[in-house]
Amino acid sequence: MASSSSGNPNPELRKDPVWNRWVIFSPARAKRPSDFKSKSPADPNPNTTCPFCIGHEHECAPEIFRVPPDDPNWTIRVIQNLYPALSRDLPDPDPVTHTSAGSVLAGFGFHDVVIETPVHSVQLVDLSPEEIAQVFVSYTKRIQQFATRDSIKYVQVFKNHGASAGASMSHSHSQMLALPVIPPSVSVRLGSMKDYFDKMRKCCICEIQCEDLLIDSSTYFLSLVPFAAAFPFEIWIVPRYHSAHFHELDAEKAVDLGGLLKQTLRKMSVQLNNPPFNFMIHTSPLHDHGSELAYSHWFIQIVPQLIGIAGFEIGTGCYINPVFPEDAAKVLRDVNVSKSG
Ligand SMILES: [Zn+2]
Ligand SMILES: [Zn+2]
Repeated sequence: MASSSSGNPNPELRKDPVWNRWVIFSPARAKRPSDFKSKSPADPNPNTTCPFCIGHEHECAPEIFRVPPDDPNWTIRVIQNLYPALSRDLPDPDPVTHTSAGSVLAGFGFHDVVIETPVHSVQLVDLSPEEIAQVFVSYTKRIQQFATRDSIKYVQVFKNHGASAGASMSHSHSQMLALPVIPPSVSVRLGSMKDYFDKMRKCCICEIQCEDLLIDSSTYFLSLVPFAAAFPFEIWIVPRYHSAHFHELDAEKAVDLGGLLKQTLRKMSVQLNNPPFNFMIHTSPLHDHGSELAYSHWFIQIVPQLIGIAGFEIGTGCYINPVFPEDAAKVLRDVNVSKSG
């Protein structure tokens, strides 16, 4: 594969086997990749109290569990969202109703918040690998609880960091939405990965050839810029072993992942001026069949918010990325940050 990188002034279209959508790389629209810093860094965390701070638990929606259990000096709390997108109080959903206008399903589901630290001024990147591992283990524990319900089909874990990335609370937290349907981009991703598997008899993520796209690696994970990154400096953290379900992550791998995520977030913060960002865990539906497990491989997508999306992207589903992935990977690979610091 002839890959374009530094100095190539010509636009190029790319499509990867995970999303199967065209991305336009248009380097002429940007300055040098290293100039591509956030102009609106994530808000500094004002040192005020808020409902997510320790001692303010009574101001929050009900708790589901905390770490450690029953300890007033908790380190993580999983709570209900005060303004849930879906309602846990509805009966398990009836079958979908089809009408001439479209399909309808009762809005049953769960919308939880994971408070990642008791301290207001601490961000996820400030936690130790072991503490970040506890956040991941909290996600897996909650997903395992959802998995006992036939009516919950998919769980989306995501984090919005910084007001312009959609965070309404500056206290470090992430969210989990347990859905009664399989979301459209999950269906597209699974279909696309299945097509690759049917042709090549291999999982397309196990087959990722890193080389110029690699940022870092740990014992069990790789961080890289995807071949057809839709967003400048988009990063994936990918298990180096085949695994369809994020919630099967064990404690040892969670610590390894915590270290690599911390290192990746620090690099992004240093090189891109602490940008607002989103991360999403892309996994498999809860109750999938054996055959899906062979081609579906979970990963984390991190998207720094450096450019907005507008009419072209909404109209076409294509993205324009001004930074070639090889150039973004080099900027992130070449900066030294310590894993534990
Ligand atoms: Zn707080
Ligand atoms: Zn795989």
